[in-house]
Amino acid sequence: IGAHQAVVSLRTDHPAQSSVTAVSISDKYGAWRGYTTPPDGSGIYRLVAERNAPMRLTQAELEAHPDWRGFGGEAVNHPPMRGWLAAPLTARDGSNMGLIQLSDKEEGDFTADDEAVLVQLAQMASVTIDNSRLFQEVRSAEADLRRQLDFTGAITSNLGEGVLVLDREGLITLANPAAAQLLHCTEHELIGTSLVSLLGGAPNPNDEGEPPAAASSSRGQLLEALHTAGSARSDDAVLRCGTELHLPVACSISPIVTGGEVAGSVFAFHDITERKAHTAALEHQARYDALTGLPNRTLLHERLHQALRQAERNGTPLALMIMDLDGFKDVNDTLGHHFGDLLLQQVGPRMQGALRLTDTVARLGGDEFAILLPGAEEEAASATAKKLLRALEDRIQIDDLSLHIGASIGIAIFPEHGIDADTLLRRADVAMYVAKRSRSSFSVYSPEHDQYSPSRLALLGDLRQALRQEALLLHYQPQTHLHGGTTTTVEALVRWQHPQYGLLPPDQFIPLAEQAGLITPLTYWVIDTALQQCAAWRKLGLDLNVAVNLSARSLHDPQLPDAVAESLARTGLPASALVLELSENAIMAEPQRALDVLTRLHETGVWLSIDDFGTGYSSLAYLKKLPVDELKIDRSFVRLMSTDENDAVIVRSTVELAHNLGLRVVAEGIEDQITLDQLAALGCDTGQGYHLARPMPAAAITELLMPQGRH
Ligand code: C2E
Ligand code: CA
Ligand code: CA
Repeated sequence: IGAHQAVVSLRTDHPAQSSVTAVSISDKYGAWRGYTTPPDGSGIYRLVAERNAPMRLTQAELEAHPDWRGFGGEAVNHPPMRGWLAAPLTARDGSNMGLIQLSDKEEGDFTADDEAVLVQLAQMASVTIDNSRLFQEVRSAEADLRRQLDFTGAITSNLGEGVLVLDREGLITLANPAAAQLLHCTEHELIGTSLVSLLGGAPNPNDEGEPPAAASSSRGQLLEALHTAGSARSDDAVLRCGTELHLPVACSISPIVTGGEVAGSVFAFHDITERKAHTAALEHQARYDALTGLPNRTLLHERLHQALRQAERNGTPLALMIMDLDGFKDVNDTLGHHFGDLLLQQVGPRMQGALRLTDTVARLGGDEFAILLPGAEEEAASATAKKLLRALEDRIQIDDLSLHIGASIGIAIFPEHGIDADTLLRRADVAMYVAKRSRSSFSVYSPEHDQYSPSRLALLGDLRQALRQEALLLHYQPQTHLHGGTTTTVEALVRWQHPQYGLLPPDQFIPLAEQAGLITPLTYWVIDTALQQCAAWRKLGLDLNVAVNLSARSLHDPQLPDAVAESLARTGLPASALVLELSENAIMAEPQRALDVLTRLHETGVWLSIDDFGTGYSSLAYLKKLPVDELKIDRSFVRLMSTDENDAVIVRSTVELAHNLGLRVVAEGIEDQITLDQLAALGCDTGQGYHLARPMPAAAITELLMPQGRH
């Protein structure tokens, strides 16, 4: 630069305006620094910067240049400049960084050669400035980065949350201390492990059962996010490390994107063991009985539904039992609830001891339990019921008291007794009531039991009262001779005038009375009432006999023959005025007992009739032995005999058989004239049916038959 006045000026760009700051680097006019072009756009330095091109002026040109004026007052104090030359400083990207400017060439104006040299010098300076700027930028960026890394490092290593940085293959490249601690291994061990293996990898064949559906679906979502560089979160995943650790976690995965490219992902997680334990405790509370620790009704329902689905799929049976303790209420009432509770607590383990692991015992409430036996059919269920009852046979010791508690069990089987949970529960319940009533300790559901459902039991209370208050009444249906048309016998058919339900037919309460042990007083009442009515008719001149139906249970009543004799004696009627009907089914259920009882009854002189004949399977040899006088062909054969050849054949052969045995034949259920004629033609003795007369009150019988008596 020699004797020249030289200025290097650098541009500083602001968003609002750009300016050029000049620094004098020689002292020809005294060193000065910090001159900044005025913001109004004047100033020759600024002109060069803006043009980004060299500029060479003579002294005259300089002085005439409008922007030179803008140089301000300072130039005025300087001796006139003899020449002026400037070359821009240009950055690599072509932008202007400032300029180098020389002035006051002693030997005259600057030449083109001077200009070329300065341009070259400016280019070299530009490269240097540019490099140093770049270097500075890199340094400061590096410092920034380091600061940032320290910062994030401090955060991640102090986080309670486990953080894993994964590469694009899903392998762990970085793990924070929390991650290592939560996974029970060192950070070092984690590096290089894949997230897939942490999330369970291939299902472990040693595992019992499948992972919970929620966990497995969230695992899928997480892996999908890993592979597609998306993000996902899960509140219920399981991380595994080694063979032992199964850590329940809430976690999230999100991609790391740098420069528009996916560099990997971050997987963050935290331990939710405590939360899960808490939820599990709540769930346990909702599904287990607090007193006994057994599953409650809710859990039973769940297991039952599940077992039903499985049974349906596999075509296997299952049994549902309902068990109710006998006399538990007495224990509670006399020894107190606390004692009752202690007793219930002992019953559960005893029951479980008698069952398989796959069976479920649940407490439904009070002293009622349910037992679910997957895979069991009737026989297996009955065997289990016996085992349960035996398990309860041993006395239960509570404090210094030892007591015996029995139980009643009802059994319903899938699919025979129901294919849905509600039906099975209801029917097992019904069977349980039957077991309780008949003191048979357990009972398998059967459709006839339906009358003993709990609502029916309310009816039972009413029936007891009905017997006492004479709410029962008898209707009578004539049995008419098919040759001559006279009526010598009427069948007494019981009805119940119920205050709420109206006149109930016998089908609706006889089975109930049988189960409840009320059939004996009922039968006695019917016999007595029918005989009194018979005596009344005879007084009026109507020479009638009455037929009364016995129940199968009557075979177990040793007092029956005496009771019959007493009633006869009271009314003063001969034994021949009474016909006792017993169904073929009842007889064949216990042939020996039937033979004994019927023999004793026959000795009193009453007539005996086999009711509903044709529905049981009595053999001719057996029939011969029975001391009976009459056979009533069941109405199911009579009803269709006019149209069904098979039924006609059965009726015909029954009539013949009866006559061969010396028995009278009654056909019941005659509903039309054709059937009546047909029966008459077959030689059937008497008939009964709506076509002849419906069952009716005693007074109506009197009305109907009196004229006949006068003839
Ligand atoms: P059951 O001994 O076979 O009595 C005949 C039943 O057939 C009666 O029904 C009668 O109303 C009905 N019946 C009569 N004629 C016809 C007809 O033409 N067509 C049809 N479809 N039915 C006819 P009910 O009175 O409802 O009695 C039903 C059953 O109840 C009786 O069958 C009997 O087994 C039982 N029962 C009735 N009274 C007593 C009783 O006092 N004690 C006992 N243990 N059982 C009784
Ligand atoms: Ca009958
Ligand atoms: Ca009958």
